[in-house]
Amino acid sequence: MADSTGFLKHERALPPRRPVDVRILDWKDVYLSRTTGEDTVFPVSAVRQQAARCMDCGIPFCHHGCPLGNLIPEWNDLVRRDDWTEAIERLHATNNFPEFTGKLCPAPCEGSCVLNLQEAPVTIKQIEWEIIDQAFTRGLVEPVPPAERTGRKVAVVGSGPAGLAAAQQLTRAGHEVTVYERADRVGGLLRYGIPEFKMEKAVLDRRLDQMRAEGTRFVTGVEVGGTGEHDLSAEQLRTEYDAVVLAGGATVGRDLSAPGRELTGIHLAMEYLPYGNRQALGELDAPPIDARGNHVVIIGGGDTGADCLGTAHRQGAASVTQLEIMSAPPDRRAAGNPWPTYPMIMRVSSAHEEGGERLYSVNTERFLGHEEGPAHGHVRALLLHEVEQVDGRFQKVEGTERELPADLVFLAMGFTGAQREGLLDALGVEIDGRGNVARDGEFMSTVPGVFVAGDIGRGQSLIVWAIAEGRAAAGAVDGWLTGASMLPRPITPTAVALR
Ligand SMILES: Cc1cc2nc3c(=O)[nH]c(=O)nc-3n(C[C@H](O)[C@H](O)[C@H](O)COP(=O)(O)OP(=O)(O)OC[C@H]3O[C@@H](n4cnc5c(N)ncnc54)[C@H](O)[C@@H]3O)c2cc1C
Ligand code: SF4
Repeated sequence: MADSTGFLKHERALPPRRPVDVRILDWKDVYLSRTTGEDTVFPVSAVRQQAARCMDCGIPFCHHGCPLGNLIPEWNDLVRRDDWTEAIERLHATNNFPEFTGKLCPAPCEGSCVLNLQEAPVTIKQIEWEIIDQAFTRGLVEPVPPAERTGRKVAVVGSGPAGLAAAQQLTRAGHEVTVYERADRVGGLLRYGIPEFKMEKAVLDRRLDQMRAEGTRFVTGVEVGGTGEHDLSAEQLRTEYDAVVLAGGATVGRDLSAPGRELTGIHLAMEYLPYGNRQALGELDAPPIDARGNHVVIIGGGDTGADCLGTAHRQGAASVTQLEIMSAPPDRRAAGNPWPTYPMIMRVSSAHEEGGERLYSVNTERFLGHEEGPAHGHVRALLLHEVEQVDGRFQKVEGTERELPADLVFLAMGFTGAQREGLLDALGVEIDGRGNVARDGEFMSTVPGVFVAGDIGRGQSLIVWAIAEGRAAAGAVDGWLTGASMLPRPITPTAVALR
C-alpha cells in the first residue's frame, strides 16, 4: 500500500546535472553516475523518497500517457519499500529496455500524473532509471533464453529500439532471430543519432550482451536490399526466413529548399551527429564535419536540434544559434492543453543549459555564400525574417529581414519517412500517404509475412513508441507463425498519444 500522503511530505526533486563548464569539456553523461560512485549528492534514499510521493491513484492517469502500459504505481511502491528485485520484475514486465526510456523519454507519463495538476509530478522517469541501473549493478538482469525452440526463422531489418524489442520478444518466444543492421554497430538512432552525453553507449552495449546471450544473432555492415558485395537481397531475405520485421526507421531527413541550399557547409543533422558520436567514442580525432571555431546555426527547435547544439558546444563552436519557425511555447500549460495531455511548454534541455541562443518565429529566406576567396561557394550567413501565424499559416513580417552569420548550418527539421530505394522497392510493399510503410491491424505490410515496426510504419516518433511497436509487432509475428501467441501487444498500429 502506497504512502498516500508522501507527496505532502516531500517536494519533487531530481538529481543535479554536472556543472556546465565541466561537462562541455567531455562527452560523458550530463548526469553523475551512481555506478562509478560519482553521485553522492542524490543518494538512493532520495530516490525512494521521491517514489513515496506516488499516491497509487485509483485511476492511475500516468498509465494513459505511456504506450507501453508501464505499471508505474506498482514499481514506485516497490522502490519506496527498497525491493529492487520485484521492482525490476514489474518494470521488465512491460518494457524491454527501461534504461533507454529512463534516460531519453520525454516522459508523457509525468505529463499525465495526477500530481501534475500541481505541476509537480512524481519523478517517474528518474525512478525508472534507478530501478534498471540498480538491477544491472545488483546482477538482476540475466539472459532469459527460451524454454524451447520453434524452428522458425525471423529476420529483423534494422537495430533501433523497435527492431531490438521485436527481436528480444521473438527470441524469447523460441524463434531463431537474426537482426540485420547496415551500420557497423547495432543500435539505430540510439547508437549514432543520440549523443553520448544523453545516453552513454555502454548502457546500450550491456543490454546487447544480454540479447546475444539469449540467442539473438546480430549481423552488421549488411544493407538488406542493397547492392554491395556483402549485402543481402530481398529475394534471399524471403527465401531464408519464415517471417520478416521491417524496422528500418524513418531515415529520410526533411530538407529546406531555400535558395543557396547548394552551398557547402549546410548539412542534414543526421549527416553531422554520427561523426560527433564517433568522435565521442574516440573513433575519430578530426570529424569531417566539425563545429570547432565555427559560427553554427541549427534550423529546427526539437530534440535533434538540441543534440546538434550539445555536440557543437563540445567541439568548441564559436557560437550556436537554434532557429524555430513556431512561436516560443508558454511557460505553463495553455488553456487548450489541459492535464492529462502532454504539456506543450518551454523546456530547457541539458544542451540548452550549456549556452547558445534560441530564436523563435523566424524563417530562413535564403542561404548566402562567400563569393570570392578560398571560401568561395561556402555558406557565410542566413537571410532571416520574422513570421506570424495567420489562419494557421506562417506569413512573413515585412521589414524584419536580417543576416545571421553562419559557417555551418544543420537542418534538424524532422524526417519525411522511410527510405524507399533498395529494400522497400524490391519487396514491393505499399507506402501510405505519409511516406511510411502501410500495414494492417496485425502490423503486416501488403506483402504476406513481412511485418512493420517503429518509425518506418509510424513515422518519426519516440523511443517509447518504438519499443511498444516492437513488442506489439512481435506478438503479431508470433501469432502468424504459430497460430496463437502469448506475447503482449501494448498498442495497435494506429494508437496515438493522448492529446
Ligand atoms: C538525433 C535524434 C535524437 C533523438 N532523441 C530522442 C530522445 O531523446 N528521446 C526519444 O524518445 N526519441 C528520440 N528520438 C527519436 C527516436 O530515436 C526514434 O523514434 C527511434 O529511434 C525509432 O526507432 P526505430 O527502431 O524505429 O528506428 P531507428 O532507431 O531509426 O533504427 C533503424 C535502423 O535500421 C537500419 N536500417 C534501415 N534500413 C536498413 C536496411 N535496408 N538494412 C539494414 N539496416 C537498415 C538503420 O541503419 C538504423 O540503424 C531522436 C531522434 C533523432 C534523429
Ligand atoms: S498518476 Fe502519479 S501519483 Fe497517481 S499512480 Fe500514477 S505516478 Fe502515482
